[in-house]
Amino acid sequence: MIAKRSPKTLTVVGLLLALARPVMSQLTPGSMDVHWNEGASDCAKTAQPPIQVHPYNAQTFILRESPCSTAEAPFMYLLVGSTKSLLIDTGDVADPRQMPLAQTVISLLPEAGQTAGQTKIPLIVVHTHGHLDHRLGDSQFQHQSSIEVVPTDLAHVRNYFGFPDWPNGIAQLDLGDRIIDVIPTPGHYPSHVSYYDRQTGLFFSSDFFLPRTPHHR
Ligand SMILES: [Zn+2]
Repeated sequence: MIAKRSPKTLTVVGLLLALARPVMSQLTPGSMDVHWNEGASDCAKTAQPPIQVHPYNAQTFILRESPCSTAEAPFMYLLVGSTKSLLIDTGDVADPRQMPLAQTVISLLPEAGQTAGQTKIPLIVVHTHGHLDHRLGDSQFQHQSSIEVVPTDLAHVRNYFGFPDWPNGIAQLDLGDRIIDVIPTPGHYPSHVSYYDRQTGLFFSSDFFLPRTPHHR
């Protein structure tokens, strides 16, 4: 049986839509006006910075390792909230002398203010998944104060974000005035998660949406 909608119901629906519209328009904008370093036919002869940083906006940074440093040339994302910051993936190079990832990320973090013993706001390092080109830089962040690195195995991913019924449900990370939704997206990798930033509307799917991506390293 199809219930006939009363004018009252339509009014309520209309009101909800009207309320939803300003929420949509409150997304913090950013710029994708960037030219990514394309590498070189002979990298030895061409000086290239190992890492490129694009400020999408004042609190959102897109980082990419140079194709001359690693053929994977992976992207990483730094999201800054009012109390915490979040780095999604750590790229394909472990050695900080070749790839100063931690140094670059920490330089982008805002000061922690009056918090005793801290100079930068805390950083959480997470991953989309555990393939090596997304986590080889982890060692640069481990054993540093105010930095937490979340391992990529399924047990840690489930426990850290809080997925009692993996892969069902959506978890949240609160960076302070900035909520990040954490969405289970296994398939490309058993503990793969994607991230949705409610502040900018950006969705970080990593390799999950690539067609027929093989299980590489
Ligand atoms: Zn992968």
